Amino acid sequence: MSDELPDSSWFHTDWTTSVESIDARERELLEQRVQTEQLKLLGTAVHVAGQGIAILTPAVEAVGPRIAFVNDGFCSIYGRSREEVIGQTPEVFGIVERQAAIADSLLHHVFERRPFEAEVTARRKDGTEIELDLQLVPVHDAGEITHWVAFVRDVTSVKHQFVMLRHQAMHDALTDLPNRTMLFDRLDRAVDEARRSRSSIALLLMDLDRFKEVNDTFGHHFGDILLKAVAFRLKNQLSLNDMVARLGGDEFAIVLAEAMDSRQVAVMARRILNTLQQPFVVDGQVLEIGASIGIALYPAHGNDSRTLLRRADVAMYAAKQSQAGYTFHKDDHEPKSAEQLSLVVEMRHALERNEFELYYQPKLHLRSGLVTRVEVLIRWNHPQRGLLPPGAFVPIAERTGLIRTISDWLLDRALRQCREWQDAGAPIHVAVNLSAKSLQEQMLPTKVDDLLKKWKVDPRFLKIEITESSIMADPAHALAIMSMLQSMGVRLSVDDFGTGYSSLTHLRELPIDEIKIDKSFVTGMMNSDADTAIVRTVIDLAHNLGKQVCAEGVEDEKVWRKLRELGCDLAQGYWISKPLSATELIRWLSENAWGLTIQR
Ligand code: C2E
Ligand code: CA
Ligand code: CA
Repeated sequence: MSDELPDSSWFHTDWTTSVESIDARERELLEQRVQTEQLKLLGTAVHVAGQGIAILTPAVEAVGPRIAFVNDGFCSIYGRSREEVIGQTPEVFGIVERQAAIADSLLHHVFERRPFEAEVTARRKDGTEIELDLQLVPVHDAGEITHWVAFVRDVTSVKHQFVMLRHQAMHDALTDLPNRTMLFDRLDRAVDEARRSRSSIALLLMDLDRFKEVNDTFGHHFGDILLKAVAFRLKNQLSLNDMVARLGGDEFAIVLAEAMDSRQVAVMARRILNTLQQPFVVDGQVLEIGASIGIALYPAHGNDSRTLLRRADVAMYAAKQSQAGYTFHKDDHEPKSAEQLSLVVEMRHALERNEFELYYQPKLHLRSGLVTRVEVLIRWNHPQRGLLPPGAFVPIAERTGLIRTISDWLLDRALRQCREWQDAGAPIHVAVNLSAKSLQEQMLPTKVDDLLKKWKVDPRFLKIEITESSIMADPAHALAIMSMLQSMGVRLSVDDFGTGYSSLTHLRELPIDEIKIDKSFVTGMMNSDADTAIVRTVIDLAHNLGKQVCAEGVEDEKVWRKLRELGCDLAQGYWISKPLSATELIRWLSENAWGLTIQR
């Protein structure tokens, strides 16, 4: 090549026309010059490019490609010098061991002369991992591959940002548990998977009891800490395949993906409730909260995630209402909305039409063998549906607020009945059930007082049964109302004891006269030592606190004997007598050995 090269002004001149006028040799020189300059330019461009660029020799038979050139970008991405890299195999791309399949695939593509593109995790010289977008393209000349060009882009920060955004979109910021969106997603997938493998899954929806109260009393900061602690305990109960999500507020969802039968699911639900029952310590405060769980199973209770969610939700509501802790979906939970709506409308007229009736169940005094007390239980004699038990309408009445009107009516009737019996020479005490709603009523003590006066009934003849859970729904307020009633001389009883979460210390503070052991423990006594132990403990505890104990749900003679042996004061149940109408009760009392002698 000649040393006599044209000066660089060629670049600025229209050389294509001037080329016409020069001879062939000069033209050749000029073209070479142009090519060199272009290559130089290209080289600079390649070096300053933001991404890493490498040129590899082609794979020839068994010999794999080798790095022939790398730009500055490539060196800085990997933290290696050019000398360390030149002549190396594609191993310098640093694809991590766990992505060996991708590294293999890269070689495969090169040997098969196909372009390759992948997102990989790679290791730099200092060992740190980076996320790369890696692309390999063959360069052809006359049909033959002469080289490969690799483009390497560092996408670590983009990818991390993406992962973070995705995480934020799918998780709850407070507890870092999966959120509602992720639950839906995972539940859908779990259902698909269970359908394929013919296995089952369980969806548990959980709502904390009394969380609002905690928030109102101690503030949101306190509530937040409590929610985190709950999340922590829940996570600890679950295996890796299960999932717990926070749906917002104090609502959580749990998906048990392992094939399980309902018995195992029940054990799990109980375990969850147990861990939450252990007191929480927040900012030095000891707190007791409980929870209600609704359960829907795939495929038994629904074939898709939406149905499962709806049914678990309704079951959760039922669990809360009944204070059962956990409840599985039942068909009669389904809000047959039209039917329920018509029930609400009909209930408003039921009072005017006198469709409610009172039934009375004897409470047997175990030591004397006498019945001088009855529990008043409401029934709705519905013109089309027949005699409805309280479970069919009391919850709806509570939701619509109609329960107050019904309770007022019931108190009036029960006291009128009490007066009639006394007039007939039968001094029977009546116990009425009041719901949580009634207990919140400021006017309740005044109302009761007015009615006692109206029917000239001694307050000691009236007992009010309040479930443990209604008291615990708002303990401070319940305590105030109950104290007023007690100071009037009205007797008070804690109903369904053992199903709620009140502590024994609470019991000591309550102005109550009687504890009613929930029937689930009483019926369980004959088959379960644990239930017998609970009954025994409650009896001893109540006696230590100077309270009477009534066992409900006595269904056979053995239980009756056992209760007498344990020193229980009162017993109530089908074995003694079913709830009876007023007329039936009078007949029962006069015919039964346990009855009073009635002067007629
Ligand atoms: P509760 O206060 O626990 O009433 C006892 C329930 O157990 C009654 O059901 C009674 O019929 C039933 N029972 C009695 N003996 C036995 C037995 O040996 N075995 C079994 N398995 N059950 C027995 P009922 O009448 O269906 O009442 C259900 C619940 O409805 C009551 O539970 C009470 O919480 C509520 N309730 C009843 N009347 C009223 C009312 O006037 N007002 C309010 N707010 N609630 C009421
Ligand atoms: Ca009761
Ligand atoms: Ca009860």
